[in-house]
Amino acid sequence: MIYVHVPFCGSFCTYCDFYSEIGSAKAYERYADSLCEEIDRRRGEIRMEPSTLYFGGGTPSVLPLHIFSRIVSALQDFAPFGEFTVEANPEDIRDKGAEYVLGLKSLGVNRMSIGVQSFDDAQLRRMNRRHDAAGAMEAFGLLRDCGFTNISLDLIFGDSTMSEDSWAETLRLAALLHPEHISCYQLTVEGDSALARMKAEGKYKEATDEACEKQYKMLCKALGEAGYRHYEISNFALPGYEAVHNSAYWARAPYVGLGPSAHSFDGVHRRWNSKDLLGWTAEEEILSEEDSVVETIMLSLRTASGCEASYLKKHCGAEELESALSRGDLVEAGKRLRIPEERFFVSDAIIRDLI
Ligand code: SF4
Repeated sequence: MIYVHVPFCGSFCTYCDFYSEIGSAKAYERYADSLCEEIDRRRGEIRMEPSTLYFGGGTPSVLPLHIFSRIVSALQDFAPFGEFTVEANPEDIRDKGAEYVLGLKSLGVNRMSIGVQSFDDAQLRRMNRRHDAAGAMEAFGLLRDCGFTNISLDLIFGDSTMSEDSWAETLRLAALLHPEHISCYQLTVEGDSALARMKAEGKYKEATDEACEKQYKMLCKALGEAGYRHYEISNFALPGYEAVHNSAYWARAPYVGLGPSAHSFDGVHRRWNSKDLLGWTAEEEILSEEDSVVETIMLSLRTASGCEASYLKKHCGAEELESALSRGDLVEAGKRLRIPEERFFVSDAIIRDLI
């Protein structure tokens, strides 16, 4: 599986501290040169099980089609990809239109992930997003018209400036569009984000845990009623549309990450590229046995299928495991133990108690 990081955005959202830069035609060319060089250098590392290619960012949809084409050509030895996802922002899809969308499709893209975040215009403006609700709807319609049958929407909850009514309306509209997949993340104030600066200046106050939990419950209820399976803490899918690429991350499958700030994992080594557009370099660490165990437990217990009971019995204290079971923090599912959906919101604390 291959991840390509596209470190460009059209503007910067208040809550985000991902590595990205404002692009230009020249910067895109230079990026593609370096990326194709990295692909050539690292092709021996790429393992194709599962066969997935994922362009994430940043905002991959700011890239012109010919840049996508160059990168995909450099990866052609590994094509076709069972799942080929491109993250996109609604304004790029709407502004670039059907020609762009059909161009992506002709390169083999078969799954689009759109950063909608909210259908509340005032909230989108506060987050410094470049689209509005109508633009998101239009982009979604365009993807459908161009034949995309696997679309994921990203939403955000836990913004203290968002009312419950606004969140209910966002959920109603998301369910109405009926994408195959919805990812929904709780807003957190990240280290180097505009929101962190606003918080330090007293201009933003974080939502309370109670408010976040209430919004998370609204999310679970609305999407459950709309037929989505809550298969990972932050991810919902119609049956058969669970993300193959992300599911492989949670199962700790090896992957190769290309581009500045991308991470790679081969089962033992974790490697990360520097955040440097002009020739990124890589550092790596060897995961200890203990790191691997902690990671396996954390990632698997975030999923609806949970973790093998024998694995937990081997690596967690008998007392901790017993009390998690007696409290209902863990339930049995065949030979596995999982956190029930109604306790997903407090899963971090449950997992912390176990390990
Ligand atoms: S949230 Fe997405 S679009 Fe916004 S700044 Fe971060 S990477 Fe860019």
